[in-house]
Amino acid sequence: MSVLSHFDDTKTAFSYKSNYELKRAYLLFKLLSYPSLTFIGKYFLNLLIKIRFPIDKVIKQTIFEQFCGGENEKECFKVINKLKENNIRCILNYSIEGSNTESNYEHTLNKTLDLIDLSKKDSLSSFIVFKPSAVGRFDLYLKKANNDSLNENEKDEWQRVEQRYDKICNSAAKSGISILIDAEESWIQKSIDELIEKLMIKYNNSSCIVYNTIQAYKVDRFEYLSDLHKRLSKSNIKIGIKLVRGAYMEKERIRAKSKNYKSPICETKVKTDENFNKCMSFIFSNINDFNLFIGSHNERSNLLATEIMNKHRIKNNDKRVWFSQLYGMSDHISFNLAINKYNVSKYLPYGPIKEVVPYLIRRLDENTSVSGQTSRELKLIRKEIKRRKLETNN
Ligand SMILES: Cc1cc2nc3c(=O)[nH]c(=O)nc-3n(C[C@H](O)[C@H](O)[C@H](O)COP(=O)(O)OP(=O)(O)OC[C@H]3O[C@@H](n4cnc5c(N)ncnc54)[C@H](O)[C@@H]3O)c2cc1C
Repeated sequence: MSVLSHFDDTKTAFSYKSNYELKRAYLLFKLLSYPSLTFIGKYFLNLLIKIRFPIDKVIKQTIFEQFCGGENEKECFKVINKLKENNIRCILNYSIEGSNTESNYEHTLNKTLDLIDLSKKDSLSSFIVFKPSAVGRFDLYLKKANNDSLNENEKDEWQRVEQRYDKICNSAAKSGISILIDAEESWIQKSIDELIEKLMIKYNNSSCIVYNTIQAYKVDRFEYLSDLHKRLSKSNIKIGIKLVRGAYMEKERIRAKSKNYKSPICETKVKTDENFNKCMSFIFSNINDFNLFIGSHNERSNLLATEIMNKHRIKNNDKRVWFSQLYGMSDHISFNLAINKYNVSKYLPYGPIKEVVPYLIRRLDENTSVSGQTSRELKLIRKEIKRRKLETNN
């Protein structure tokens, strides 16, 4: 078993990028390193979309191609095939943010079922992902989470939500695909946890079909995880966990303050990191009961995962363990893990350009707000550009 000690091999990390694509990524991350420029860029992007200014081509050739696979499934295959050659699988993620209507929830359901078929047919990846708020009304999850009583219409509505989850998991189980269910705001999570636990009991007997998401920035998650383990491991149910840090920190803190309750989020980044590591170690120590999908761009966490796997003698390509990053970010982690035979996937968002703009804006925000992320990407791209220049000169 080879043991990874760093992710600095930029030749491997950027092998799938042409010189042009590499320079474009450099320019993009350089711009993102100036928060004021990003702020102005976002403002104009929103404005130009609003007034229907024809900027699709510009968006497509810049941020869209950096962070998205294409405008439809067919277009994504160029990226999918390139990554597959490098032992990296793509998880197609239809990234449009629809309005809260029953017809949109049904549309997401059908799209997800289509993606299960596509993934099975073209052996894309063994995972499909969806967001709870894309298949059910946020306020309904909230009512369920708060144990509020539902009126007759709401009871029917909740039944339809449960049926959508079940149809997805059922189709996935028949196709041998696993379902990652995203975590969103903490105040609706209780209803989602309960729903997913029922689905795990129904579908995770012989293999791990259903995965819940643990957001390590939530103080209570280790306790939840060990409780879940106590409950399900007794009956030999495989527990599928996607482990992330959590993406809604600011929103969580603002709500807690405005509603005057204690924020559920760890007080510091160090505490979130400790919680992440504690959850990860716990899962690896009980790996016979778990399947783990690690979604992180943190070098230390990814290295730590490989160290713990080595310690527990878990093979690099053990099918119970997957690593994942978002397309367009942290290639150095994905590609260096993949070349060392770990199971790696990239979330590959796609959709019509104007529809994925909110997703792109979140990526811009993340890359300007996550300290060190942009400068790290820049440093690595710069290193690779230099390396290629030297190689051609020699
Ligand atoms: C494949 C994949 C799937 C994902 N799925 C989900 C999902 O379903 N739900 C979801 O919420 N997010 C999801 N994310 C996003 C994820 O939660 C993080 O926001 C993002 O990956 C950054 O965390 P990191 O571990 O990559 O990196 P790092 O840069 O090490 O961590 C940044 C994170 O640390 C935490 N943090 C930062 N500052 C503080 C602070 N002062 N106090 C406490 N905590 C702090 C926050 O969670 C922040 O996002 C996903 C990410 C990936 C790669």
